Amino acid sequence: MKPIQHSLQRWIQNNESFQERHNAMKREITSHPLVRQFLQGHEEITDEQIERNLNKLYEYITQSHQCDRCTSVETCKNMLQGYSPILEYKNEEIHISYEKCRNRLAEEAQTEQSDLIRSVHMPKEILEARIDDVHIDQNRTNAIKNMTQFLNAAEEKLPERGIFFSGPFGVGKTYLLGVIANRLKQFNISSMLIYMPEFVREMNASIKDNTVQQKVDAFKRADVLMLDDIGAETLSAWFRDEVLGAILQYRMMEKLPVFFTSNYTMAQLEEILATTTRGDVEKVKAGRIMERIKQVSIEVPVNGENRRR
Ligand code: ADP
Ligand code: MG
Repeated sequence: MKPIQHSLQRWIQNNESFQERHNAMKREITSHPLVRQFLQGHEEITDEQIERNLNKLYEYITQSHQCDRCTSVETCKNMLQGYSPILEYKNEEIHISYEKCRNRLAEEAQTEQSDLIRSVHMPKEILEARIDDVHIDQNRTNAIKNMTQFLNAAEEKLPERGIFFSGPFGVGKTYLLGVIANRLKQFNISSMLIYMPEFVREMNASIKDNTVQQKVDAFKRADVLMLDDIGAETLSAWFRDEVLGAILQYRMMEKLPVFFTSNYTMAQLEEILATTTRGDVEKVKAGRIMERIKQVSIEVPVNGENRRR
């Protein structure tokens, strides 16, 4: 008989301590400021409902609320990373649900913005170039002045002409394109920043899979098109006339700006464009391209020291 009595006693004891622990926990949960605030807003909630939903209330108070305990989505402490809990009372029931937290929303907005710059193989430092980091020296005041003018105007309305940055290797021409693209994206204007040699390779490859037209269309319509290092490579007559020519023609008609960087001046580039990969000299066609380039951009020299180490 004794063993049974003994276990029964133990059971009662345990059960009592369970009740006690349960009550202590309930007191702790319901006196938590956030839960108190919730309950005060819904006086119709009965004690029985609280009792039944204690686990939801507990979950609610143990989670981070709108990033109050985290600095980033990566360090988020919540069960659902990047989501913050909310308590609701509807259909006579307490509900816990989750909404995107502040850090997650900010992160998503950031990704969306980076997607606005579509570029092929641009170094990270260029993609992250900020206007505040631009080192101003005498040799570049003109370039910076033109850039600032463009950006100030773009905040209201996209100007119809971009800039043709011409100057020696390493003075920061591509860097300036990065600065412009990053500033424009803050006005929700997307830039397509393309490294010319890569562009040529990509278009040549597109002949095989029949995507030339589709790609040409994308370049035609981009808010802002940036062609980095034009003249670095001899172009085929096909690329010059059917690809570049068609894109520039469209943008000229639609008054859409194009930016260029080049180690050459416009005059020198005209000579280069007259020489195609087949070695033919085609002055008329090159002249036609240059006319379009002049319609969509303004030539601005950039000088200074070579910043490449
Ligand atoms: P370019 O296109 O004229 O050849 P880049 O834009 O590639 O020259 O610049 C050369 C190097 O100098 C890069 O590493 C770039 O990040 C750096 N650079 C250029 N301009 C600046 C600047 N204003 N502030 C800081 N770094 C710069
Ligand atoms: Mg460059």
